Amino acid sequence: MSEAKTMPKVEKSEAEWRKELTPMQYAVLREKATERPFSGEYEHEKRPGTYVCAGCGQTLFESDAKFDSGCGWPSFTQPSAGNHINEERDISHGMIRTEVLCSRCNGHLGHVFEDGPTPTGLRYCINSAALKLQPK
Ligand SMILES: [Zn+2]
Repeated sequence: MSEAKTMPKVEKSEAEWRKELTPMQYAVLREKATERPFSGEYEHEKRPGTYVCAGCGQTLFESDAKFDSGCGWPSFTQPSAGNHINEERDISHGMIRTEVLCSRCNGHLGHVFEDGPTPTGLRYCINSAALKLQPK
């Protein structure tokens, strides 16, 4: 994992976000919704490429780090760059989880769990609606 140059922060009003994003993207990124498992467009995506934030376009994950976790959402072992995501403790829904956010637009992406494969042992469980694949 490397530290990459950070782009300027993106700050928009909720009305602006609502205009730019699809209802599903808005629900996930801005309202921290979780899409239904096995419903997202990238769960079984195998094309090589880079996954960027659906809100602001910041690079988030590489297809090389994607693995089939069977959990129903796109899963990654690590982000493209450590400083492109923020992690926060999330105690909603009666669980203690670690929330993953885009560091540029503060959009909600998903959660990270410590049951992933080697080498990181991490599973970044990310909503398809928060991502856009740029195929190579
Ligand atoms: Zn973003």
